[in-house]
Amino acid sequence: MRADDELRFLSNPLPSELGATAEEMLERLQGPTAIRVTGRDPSRCRAVVTLLHGNEPSGSEAVHRWLREGIEPAVDALFIVASVRTALSEPRFSYRMLPGARDLNRCFLGPFDDRPGKVAKEILAAIVQASPECVVDIHNNTGHNPPYAIGTEIEAQRLGVAAIFARRFIHSDLRIGSIMEAIDVAPCVTVECGRSGDPAAAETAYHGISRLMRLDSIADSDAPIDDIEILESMVRVRALDGIELTMSDARNPDVDLTISHDIDRHNFQLIEDDTVLGWVAPRAGWPLEATDSGGDDRSRNLFAIDESGRLRSRGSWIPIMMTTDPVIARQDCLFYVVERRL
Ligand SMILES: [Zn+2]
Repeated sequence: MRADDELRFLSNPLPSELGATAEEMLERLQGPTAIRVTGRDPSRCRAVVTLLHGNEPSGSEAVHRWLREGIEPAVDALFIVASVRTALSEPRFSYRMLPGARDLNRCFLGPFDDRPGKVAKEILAAIVQASPECVVDIHNNTGHNPPYAIGTEIEAQRLGVAAIFARRFIHSDLRIGSIMEAIDVAPCVTVECGRSGDPAAAETAYHGISRLMRLDSIADSDAPIDDIEILESMVRVRALDGIELTMSDARNPDVDLTISHDIDRHNFQLIEDDTVLGWVAPRAGWPLEATDSGGDDRSRNLFAIDESGRLRSRGSWIPIMMTTDPVIARQDCLFYVVERRL
């Protein structure tokens, strides 16, 4: 199998070359691949990146389905399918990144000297070279969430691209090394299309890609930007290093922090002041950090621990991307807190 750090280029693949399923396509690609499809106006290009995380297959399923249809796009289409080897590592579609490797979608601001760093650099170079009108990076998440887009700025072009895929737009100015922070040649949005393995998530990704590639101009989108809900001021909430974490419907006395197993039902909803979110063991001390874009910890403004060790919300706020997967919570974060833009 090809090394996972060499981006290969493929032009106008025949539908029959791609295999009958997305999984077969990945088996044929073997490693990170940039697929270019010539459009009616080849002077312009739109780029879609996906599978930066090996356990998030909806985007590559949608790309496969769209490519198999053999439709000529309005402008050139560039699809970058990234962590193919990670996705195909057994058990398939279970690894976000290969064990011991850095998270590829945290590598786009460097350093670029390890394998995922090298892939990130090659992906950025391929995008710069294609000079696209826009870049969409498609992901899955784990908790119960509606489809939403994320961008580093609130402006018409990003909102227009976001509206092709989702009705919610999150403004993030966090610097975590994701691809959208590193692309300055075009407006870039990240799309979270739903849960891995959920057919509805692959549908969302597919219909978004179809629309994106059909429009003569992105501004012609039939999805108006006015009624997009905009959320901002992201704060990233994670357990402090060394804190053991589990998800359960009741306190687990053996671990430091038990997060209520159904917290994802709060995603995109206003949490009331004093809502119980979990339980903290007495020995654990303060278990959380909540980092804003200035790098300040706001955890003590957002949470309180009562005398019975229950973790409660402080004030009312909107959580998004709450995960119920303790592995993801440890590798990445528990959730983000946002405000609705008025
Ligand atoms: Zn992801």
